[in-house]
Amino acid sequence: MSLNKIKRFVFSDFRRQFNFLKLALSYFLKNTKSFGYPAKFMIEPANTCNLNCAACPVGNGEIKKTKGKLTFGDFKKIINEAGPYLYQLTLWNWGEPFLNPEIDRMVKYAVRQGIFVITSTNGHFLEGDWPKKIVLSGLDEIIIALDGLSQETLEKYRRGADFEKVVSGIKRLVEEKRKKASLKPVIQLQFIVMKHNQSELGKLKSFGKEIGVNKIVVKSFGANLDINRFKDFEPDKKYSRYKNRMSVKSFCRQLWFSLNINYDGTAVPCCYDPHEKHILGNVFQEGVKKVWQGEKMLEFRRKLINREKIDICRQCAYNSKISRKI
Ligand code: SF4
Ligand code: SF4
Repeated sequence: MSLNKIKRFVFSDFRRQFNFLKLALSYFLKNTKSFGYPAKFMIEPANTCNLNCAACPVGNGEIKKTKGKLTFGDFKKIINEAGPYLYQLTLWNWGEPFLNPEIDRMVKYAVRQGIFVITSTNGHFLEGDWPKKIVLSGLDEIIIALDGLSQETLEKYRRGADFEKVVSGIKRLVEEKRKKASLKPVIQLQFIVMKHNQSELGKLKSFGKEIGVNKIVVKSFGANLDINRFKDFEPDKKYSRYKNRMSVKSFCRQLWFSLNINYDGTAVPCCYDPHEKHILGNVFQEGVKKVWQGEKMLEFRRKLINREKIDICRQCAYNSKISRKI
């Protein structure tokens, strides 16, 4: 557990702490029926995107599900039921969160309940009122995906991306924080290492400093389920999650602490299930508790004790250490 997470636990209210201890107990006992509510949600604001990233099933059109957006009313229902137990709300999944015009209302609503809120964007919407709305929402952290230090490198994978637009958007957000004397949101620049951009790693730190981000996270390239189709993007061995899988543990704790909810309420185990192969229920129809304790969830937890047997879990980087902060 990171220092930040420990601090959040120590300074949170008793109900959250007690719930977290119940989850931890369920996890350590490997009890498939969890004793508490989820401590973390990943909620999808929209399943559509303005870019066409090569290996992303949204960007390359492989997700066949109807396009849609989460409504503020449905969002409130989830938070009203489970918010008092939540530590973290991760506000993205498959799609660009800022295509949902109500995202800042959602952030504000969750932040007011003491939940740590983080979102992730391709950075093309940091213009107009957005920088101001983002800072005023109280968002804790924003990840901005920029895996290229020039137009040419960026658009090789992120097809349709506009380098200048992202960089000027980041600068606008930095400036808005300065104007409001706000430390939030922490701006994280995320750089996914691929074959065509690995040579830029050396310049990344000074680039980040120049544009004013708070931190830079370098991640290994992941090709949802099948790396063989996207071999051209795989970086050299030292950055490849597929060639460095020694630290992957068999047991995954994700399902004892966290729940993924898509824009229409469909609950799936985690973000590695873009095609909804393992639907656990629908929180709009059944409520969070019923899904969290439901038979489908229990069955998935049972299977997860040996994750190599589950299709979506085999190439998952969860618990592998090919991700580093610089
Ligand atoms: S920006 Fe994100 S959601 Fe959009 S296509 Fe790229 S990876 Fe997918
Ligand atoms: S895909 Fe990964 S994170 Fe998701 S349940 Fe399987 S092992 Fe856990």
